[in-house]
Amino acid sequence: MLKWLKNRRDKKKRKNTAKKVYSDGVRIIPRAEHGISRKNMDDSAIKVLSRLNKAGYEAYLVGGAVRDLLLGHRPKDFDVATDATPEQVKELFRNCRLIGRRFRLAHIHFGRHIIEVATFRGHHDDSGSGRQDETGRILRDNVYGDIEQDVWRRDFTCNALYYNIADFSVVDFVGGYDDVKQGRLRLIGDPDERYREDPVRMLRAIRFAAKLGFSIDETCQYFIREEGALLRDIPPARLYEEVLKLFHSGHAIECFAGLREFHLLEHLFPEAAVALDGNETGLKFLQLAMQSTDERIHKNMPVTPAFLFAALLWAPLLKRTEKRLDKGEPHALALQKSASAMVAEQVRHVSIPKRFTTVMRDIWGLQSRFSNRKGKRATAVFEHPKFRAAYDFLCLRARAGEISEEDCQWWTEFQKNSPEAQQKKVQPQKRHGRPRRRKRTSKIKD
Ligand code: ATP
Ligand code: MG
Repeated sequence: MLKWLKNRRDKKKRKNTAKKVYSDGVRIIPRAEHGISRKNMDDSAIKVLSRLNKAGYEAYLVGGAVRDLLLGHRPKDFDVATDATPEQVKELFRNCRLIGRRFRLAHIHFGRHIIEVATFRGHHDDSGSGRQDETGRILRDNVYGDIEQDVWRRDFTCNALYYNIADFSVVDFVGGYDDVKQGRLRLIGDPDERYREDPVRMLRAIRFAAKLGFSIDETCQYFIREEGALLRDIPPARLYEEVLKLFHSGHAIECFAGLREFHLLEHLFPEAAVALDGNETGLKFLQLAMQSTDERIHKNMPVTPAFLFAALLWAPLLKRTEKRLDKGEPHALALQKSASAMVAEQVRHVSIPKRFTTVMRDIWGLQSRFSNRKGKRATAVFEHPKFRAAYDFLCLRARAGEISEEDCQWWTEFQKNSPEAQQKKVQPQKRHGRPRRRKRTSKIKD
């Protein structure tokens, strides 16, 4: 009861100062000018914004959503920023969960759909609860602030526009509106400092440039080239998430080209960077793999990270395998041993979850088994659960000119004509009923 009375009093107090006043120089773009229509917005996001606003809080749609709406794209997610604390947000929404220890966020659940509500973040400094390491990287960032401070923790100007539900205007503190209109990607503040605070912003620059077709501002480009090595200090699990966003953005080809252009590939996939350097066939193969991933994403078809990572690490795997073959090891064994050693080395930079490295090894292992074209051995290859992915991989190798087209054609024909394949086609239900026990054919130990 007391809490309720207090909330009512706070609400009244806040309502009296509802009209927000910003510092001089802040640009307010009215609805008539920016043209964003609420029709293109997510209903749940509007509900959240409106309820916060009615309760007397400031409530803005922020980040990529405003940028994408201005560009006429459908945003991937709708993030909200407010001056309400996470606890205050929780009081307003029954479907709210608070998450995060470092910086608490409110997640408002609408079925499987989530609207993330963040309280404005303040400045971090050594004395407060924010902290940086010796390279300038932000280690803790858990101070609340106001909207004008919140802007400074965002990365690019195009990601720092605030759509104000109170009057439907877009608030621009850093020139983001013109940058969106002109297709410019520019970091807020001093690029050197901003990359040092969080080197992952270099990868974000490449992803946004590829995805939005924006050009990266020259100083921002310069410092990516200068400071790429800072990525080596980022935990491999976080880099995995970011790399996946690059490769599953639907613009993997452009993202990969960006990683090579700015010499970042060598910090993420050092062996691949060396093995692909000047390797035309290897690059062609990877290009084809990325093209097929991009096409699948544009068609809303499922993609597995295992396929692209297997493709990316194929050139260095071949290199390692060659060395073992020269020592006289049998092919399959040389490949398996090389795969184990290479994956162990790779996950120190960008970690790849084990459920995917297992599939990658299956795809690689099957490549050497595709030469088994007789009787039961061919059938065993065909019945492997990862046959389809491995076969696609094989055909891309053929298209890139690494192996003969005939290798791929033989298996294409096999699937069309062999009695085993026909049986599989007409009796697919048999394979679903009870899980089949599969003999381990591989000697690899995880
Ligand atoms: P996407 O279309 O990929 O979702 P986005 O711009 O919405 O792009 P998110 O990763 O969803 O990107 O982050 C939401 C917002 O949070 C960003 O627009 C940006 O303002 C801020 N942000 C996210 N990551 C960082 C970062 N590493 N440094 C600074 N600001 C960030
Ligand atoms: Mg987003």
